[in-house]
Amino acid sequence: MSLLLDSVSYNYPGSTHGLHDVSLDVRTGELVAVIGPSGSGKSTLLKLVAGLETGHTGRIVLGGDDMSRTPVHQRHIGMVFQSYALFPHLSVLDNVAYGLKLRKVDTAERRQRAQELLDIVGLGDFAQRATAQLSGGQQQRVALARALAIDPRALLLDEPLSALDASVRGHLRDQIRSIQQRFNATTLLVTHDQEEALVMADRVAMLKDGRLLQIATPREIYEHPASRAVAEFVGLSTILPAKVAAPGRLDMGFAELFAETGTRPFGTAVHVLVRPEHIQPDPAPDSVNRLAGRTGAQRYLGALTRYDFDVAGAGKPFLAESAAPAAEAIAIAPEHLRLLDH
Ligand code: ADP
Repeated sequence: MSLLLDSVSYNYPGSTHGLHDVSLDVRTGELVAVIGPSGSGKSTLLKLVAGLETGHTGRIVLGGDDMSRTPVHQRHIGMVFQSYALFPHLSVLDNVAYGLKLRKVDTAERRQRAQELLDIVGLGDFAQRATAQLSGGQQQRVALARALAIDPRALLLDEPLSALDASVRGHLRDQIRSIQQRFNATTLLVTHDQEEALVMADRVAMLKDGRLLQIATPREIYEHPASRAVAEFVGLSTILPAKVAAPGRLDMGFAELFAETGTRPFGTAVHVLVRPEHIQPDPAPDSVNRLAGRTGAQRYLGALTRYDFDVAGAGKPFLAESAAPAAEAIAIAPEHLRLLDH
């Protein structure tokens, strides 16, 4: 079942904050991750889709039905929150069966369904436990099972992993993704963790100041960010100002570099984005776009070292990643200098 937001705007009463003209679609079975800095409108978007916040303009359409005026409990949407929000007085099984009880499914059937869901999330043996006896990661799997038990028309995941330890997070990320795919659940995942978004999502939607800046596949948003704001938020990078000096040539101030400048006229001011893995350490002396300098701070990451490389006049260091840091020069292939227009 597809989910469509069509020109959705919302202001919190008495404020100019909220969402501004957001349009996006989530296809059936697709997982779209919503990212953006704190205050960018991620939770507001989720609350509007859930019906927890009302009074927006534009349309929210689920499976062809306009839900804009539909109350929360009639939207038939499954939700998972950061805080698990399990019922402490109910067993694990009864937590999962809860939504079915509300929908008047008979006891035997809802217990069977809840047990099936617990088996799927790997907690089949925990059905009779109290929720307090489970770890955070286990509680979140119960919350996922509970959300899926009602066979929801869409699944909303609100920072589901952010309360968990890093060690649990990586594993649960994979598990949630694989269960979401198995159920073909149309899913919106809100996260402040851009790496989580890239790893889990079919597409990533980036919000800032209540506006949608870009929606694209993880690869597209990383390799072709639509703006400086997206480039800065997604992945690591070095971003420097430049001017088009001639077709295929950039004046960086401290050097002239070859780059794909497209049809931009002479003198056009741009920003240039370089990803750390595209910086080649110690290229041959006659390499294109060779920049001499010296390595500054280094962070050992195991297979790679991340390091700053200082080029005189650049104003800030290049952030690079390679097996070993550069000794005296770097090079950046022309196709790896991405131009961001103002
Ligand atoms: P995010 O989830 O991306 O951190 P939110 O959706 O919570 O952002 O908030 C978007 C904007 O709306 C922010 O400027 C925030 O301060 C404002 N906001 C959030 N909740 C309320 C509220 N209940 N009343 C007024 N303003 C709010």
